Amino acid sequence: MSRGTLLDLIYLIAATTFIIALKGLGSPKRARMGNVVAAAGMTLAIVATFFHQTSDGHSLRHIPLILLGMFIGAIVAVPAARFMQITAMPQLVAIFNGVGGGAAALVSITEFVHIHAEKPATYVTLEVLLGVLIGTVSFSGSAIAYAKLQELMTGRPITYPGQQIINALFALTAVALIVIILITASTPLLWVLLAVSFVLGIIFVLPIGGADVPVLISLLNSFTGLAVAASGFTLGNNLLIVAGTLVGASGILLTRMMSAAMGRSLANVLFSAFGSVVASSSAEREDGRTVRSGTPEDIGVLLAYSGKVVIIPGYGLAVAQAQHVIRELADELEAKGVEVLYAIHPVAGRMPGHMNVLLAEANIPYEKLKEMDEANSELTTADVALVVGANDTVNPAAKTDPGSPIYGMPIINAGDAENVVFLKRSMRPGFAGVENDLLFDPKTVLLFGDAKDTLTKLLAAVKAS
Ligand code: NDP
Repeated sequence: MSRGTLLDLIYLIAATTFIIALKGLGSPKRARMGNVVAAAGMTLAIVATFFHQTSDGHSLRHIPLILLGMFIGAIVAVPAARFMQITAMPQLVAIFNGVGGGAAALVSITEFVHIHAEKPATYVTLEVLLGVLIGTVSFSGSAIAYAKLQELMTGRPITYPGQQIINALFALTAVALIVIILITASTPLLWVLLAVSFVLGIIFVLPIGGADVPVLISLLNSFTGLAVAASGFTLGNNLLIVAGTLVGASGILLTRMMSAAMGRSLANVLFSAFGSVVASSSAEREDGRTVRSGTPEDIGVLLAYSGKVVIIPGYGLAVAQAQHVIRELADELEAKGVEVLYAIHPVAGRMPGHMNVLLAEANIPYEKLKEMDEANSELTTADVALVVGANDTVNPAAKTDPGSPIYGMPIINAGDAENVVFLKRSMRPGFAGVENDLLFDPKTVLLFGDAKDTLTKLLAAVKAS
């Protein structure tokens, strides 16, 4: 078997591991296995690439430089991934995705220069230019997304008059440049295309609000996949084509699923500057209704004497890092004969699977996690819905108020339980910035404070009951 055939065979095995990995990532039970399989496939592919030979018999060159690049990448990325807070996951994904897009753009630029040196002014392929455009948009867009999520700049949508028109003009200019470069193979215009793509990435992301950014990151992730696939065509590398296409397709599917779970269209997420207005909320409403706050002791007794408690976790659970104490509370309740389940909304938190990851960290058994439909039928027979740092995902306005920005989003019906207990720090709204009527429902009681502290107090109260 020739070296080239062997390499293709290894790439085929690696591509297969990526598909198996994606399947694994579809369920929390198999997600870890999925990651390990993909990492093994990627390692195999990287090692094999060192033995790559070009069609004219050249071996891979600049190996020490490549190894140095890999070493620098590893010493930056490994600690970043190991020591980041789980709440910072979206920005980590953003920055890793951005460098992926940037790398794909660099490959395309290098190939353009090579092609140009070998066959001046005659042959520039479309995929090279698409690689530059998409990879650069992904790079600069992800950098802005990172800055927004890391609070290096305002997380609110940044809008100005004529914004959509200016964005459209930049996009059209990029397309026009590609057409002209295809005809003229002009190198100076390549640099103009690079600059236009860079600005386009920035201005595309500016009007998107902080908490919509995870959806955007998923879209940019899909762009990076396409840029990588374009590099694969440029370099004639089948594995890059397959891996890039997988990332492109799964990224766009995830983007669609995230916007659907928020009850919004992708266009609405990208162009509506959602989240620019945050409604203020107070404990007393204009109609005179007030919220009822309780003590850990009262609520501890309520929980301890319940038959079924459904815990509804949300973004606040991640902020408070209260996953371990929630597990202790559930264990204590179960020891008293209470049935405890967890209701998982698909967009609870700030990234897909956020709650699953948190609860898995505390070794909460997967079978206790109920997806929205199942959770809603459990709630009809629950004594207590214990809402821990969730807000929008239990807000009945999504069903009842056509004027609400979250109208149409499917929710967890916490209000169907006999009693509702909210653990939150204040009357501040959630990500959508809208008031939650359920807080004012007579069956609701609030326990104010950081979720980790209040859960610790509840645990002590349940133990004492
Ligand atoms: P929300 O953002 O609606 O609400 C979070 C609640 O947690 C707030 O009411 C906040 O109130 C409370 N909170 C914050 N910190 C703490 C703390 N330390 N202790 C106790 N409570 C705390 O969260 P949900 O999970 O219900 O909804 C997620 C929202 O994010 C949805 O609107 C969804 O569309 C959006 N989104 C989700 C994405 C995803 O992929 N998961 C992606 C993009 C957006 P207070 O400040 O008073 O404590």
